[in-house]
Amino acid sequence: MRSAPAAPLLPRRSKTADPEGRRTEERRTDVVLRPAAVAMAFIAPEQPHEPIAVPGVALAADDVLVAIEMSTICGSDVHTVHGRRSAPAPLVLGHESVGRVIAIGSAGVDAADGTPVRIGDRVVWSVTVSCGRCDRCTTGLTQKCRELGKYGHERIAPHRELTGGFASHAQLRRGTTIVRVPETLPAAVLAPASCATATAWAAVQRGAAGRDLSGMRVRVYGAGLVGLSAAAIAESQGAIVDVADPNPLRRAAAERFGAVSAEAIPAAVHPETVHPETVHPEPEIVIEASGHAVAQAAADVAVGGTVVLVGSVFPADPVPLDAESLVRRMITITGIHNYTGADLADAVSFLAVRGRAYPFAEVVGTVHPLVDLDAALRAASAPDAPLRVGIIPR
Ligand SMILES: [Zn+2]
Ligand SMILES: [Zn+2]
Repeated sequence: MRSAPAAPLLPRRSKTADPEGRRTEERRTDVVLRPAAVAMAFIAPEQPHEPIAVPGVALAADDVLVAIEMSTICGSDVHTVHGRRSAPAPLVLGHESVGRVIAIGSAGVDAADGTPVRIGDRVVWSVTVSCGRCDRCTTGLTQKCRELGKYGHERIAPHRELTGGFASHAQLRRGTTIVRVPETLPAAVLAPASCATATAWAAVQRGAAGRDLSGMRVRVYGAGLVGLSAAAIAESQGAIVDVADPNPLRRAAAERFGAVSAEAIPAAVHPETVHPETVHPEPEIVIEASGHAVAQAAADVAVGGTVVLVGSVFPADPVPLDAESLVRRMITITGIHNYTGADLADAVSFLAVRGRAYPFAEVVGTVHPLVDLDAALRAASAPDAPLRVGIIPR
């Protein structure tokens, strides 16, 4: 059973606000939350999370307060709680969420489509917070902003507790891309949009490089949620997709996410496993979403093709680079980390229309209440874990 999200009392202006100021950080709106918002603080690896009660927030002029409907546990959260990835504790983890806007700062905020965000809007939001002014932001690399912030990755500070998805509420600040989402899509489809789906979208677009994917051969290494999403996105645009993953359950999933075939072992290593009528041994685009098949991806790709590295988000041994082969085959190797606001908006549009043809709703295998976050993380760490475990505030 879920109780209704904590409702804000009437917002009132801070007495210290500048009455002349527009879009100033000083002009804050106090929002009282009853019952108090709850954020689950990660303290240290293998330690229980500690709940923090947040009875109210002070919204900056262009802040948005969201009541979280569902968050999902990303693989990077699992790595953090087991100490395989450093984090500035204490912090609130979680960066895949969908929720509903319950309060907006005094200046108002626009959604990604340019229309004002309104109270009651159901939204997803970018993992990144970008300044919009630095050299990287102005050249389109907003995910590498020189003043970058990231939800689910920042140490808790006074009046800055609602910064992650493992909470009842999230306080979104200036520089966040907010995307309104359809009421008809399940939360389980939407929550992963702000990590897996948008990253997969960015990877496919980088591989396509403006070309029509229709009839192109795409190979995906790794049938986690980024890889499966990339397979579905590419197939929905007409590509012929094959997927490689060592896990038979995930290979079975890949075929439901648009792959014409799913192989355990890279075709180039074991050509006898290739079925010529279905598998195309020389893909024009290879998306490496596992982090474990980088050299194989570079070896597989067709002359003139593109390898998109997106899974190498953990420390690993360097991969030898055969420069002569790269030159003679005229291949491009490129990296994608996170995504832009436009990628997130496009990913949501994909989920809302063409994405309905794929079983995205089934990726969330189990759902736990927020207070049982530690049990949820154990479930997400199991060898047979579903692609995503969901968290619902109570
Ligand atoms: Zn993630
Ligand atoms: Zn910037």
